[in-house]
Amino acid sequence: MSEQPMDGWFTEVFDQQGSAIALRVTEKLLDVTSPYQHLEVFETETHGRLMVLDGCVMLTDRDNFLYHEMMSHPVLFTHAAPKRVVIIGGGDCGTLREVLKHPGVEKVTQIDIDEEVTRAAERFFPTLVERNDDPRAELLFEDGVKWVDNCPDESIDVMIIDSTDPVGPAEGLFKTDFLARCHRILAPGGVMVQQSESPLYHTGTIIRELRRDMRAAGFDSVATLPFPQPTYPSGWWSCTLAGKGCDTATFRSNDADSADLALEYYSSALHQGALVLPPFMRRQLVE
Ligand code: SAM
Repeated sequence: MSEQPMDGWFTEVFDQQGSAIALRVTEKLLDVTSPYQHLEVFETETHGRLMVLDGCVMLTDRDNFLYHEMMSHPVLFTHAAPKRVVIIGGGDCGTLREVLKHPGVEKVTQIDIDEEVTRAAERFFPTLVERNDDPRAELLFEDGVKWVDNCPDESIDVMIIDSTDPVGPAEGLFKTDFLARCHRILAPGGVMVQQSESPLYHTGTIIRELRRDMRAAGFDSVATLPFPQPTYPSGWWSCTLAGKGCDTATFRSNDADSADLALEYYSSALHQGALVLPPFMRRQLVE
C-alpha cells in the first residue's frame, strides 16, 4: 500500500506493521498502467532512480545490488555446475545481469509477465540491462506459471523466482502446486530460490509456509538466507533455496572465493554466515 503524506516524498506504507519507508523524490519520470500493474519511476535525491510497482518499492539504484546478488550467487554456487538457468519475474534484469557473470552458465531464460517493466529498465536503469545483449540470454514476456507448465521434465538446473509480493499476478508463484511444477522441471541436483519477504515481519507466516510448501513439493533440502535491503519493508529481506537431491546447506565455496565477478555484497564468507539462522528464526522455522 502506498500513500503520499509528505510533499516531495515517495512513501510506501506497511499498514499491517505500522511502518513506512520514504524517499525524497525530485521528479517523476514514468507513470504507466500495464494490463498487470501500475509502474512508476522516480528520480530521488539520495538513492538514484526508484522503480515502484503497485505502490511497492522494487528497486533503487543505490541498494539493488544487495537483493540481486543474493538472489543469484548463493543459488548458483549451491548447484554443482549450473548450465540452464530460468528466472521467473525479474523484469528489471538486475538478477539476469548477475547470472550472466557466471561463465559456466550456457542459457538463461527470463520470463516476466509484464514487458513494460523491462522497457522501463532499458530507459531508466541502463546498468541493470547492460548484459541483455549476451547471446546466452533469452527474454520472454508471459505468465511464469504457464511457462513452467509447458517446460519439459528435468530440463533446468537453477530456477530463480524473482517476483513481486504474493498478491496480484505473483500470487500463483507462491502456491504449493507451482513449487511442485518447479520440482518437476528441475534436473536431479537442481536448486531453486524464491524471494521470501522480511525475516522480521514474515518468518512465522510467509517464510514458514514457503519452506513447508517446498518440502511438500518434493524438495529434500531448504535454506533461508537473510540479507539487508534498506528500501524494503523492515529494511531486511530473505531468499529461500530448495534443493532436489542437492544440499542447500553447502556450496562451492572455493569457486565462490576464486571467482572474479565484480561483486559489491556477496562473498563466500558472507554466504556461509547467511546460512546461520538467527535464534528467533531458528525457533520458528526449525525447532
Ligand atoms: N525485487 C522485487 C521485489 O522483491 O519487490 C521484485 C522485482 S521484479 C521487478 C518482479 C517482477 O515479477 C515484476 O516485473 C512482475 O511483472 C513479475 N511477475 C509478477 N508475477 C509474475 C508472473 N506470474 N509471471 C512472471 N512474472 C511475474
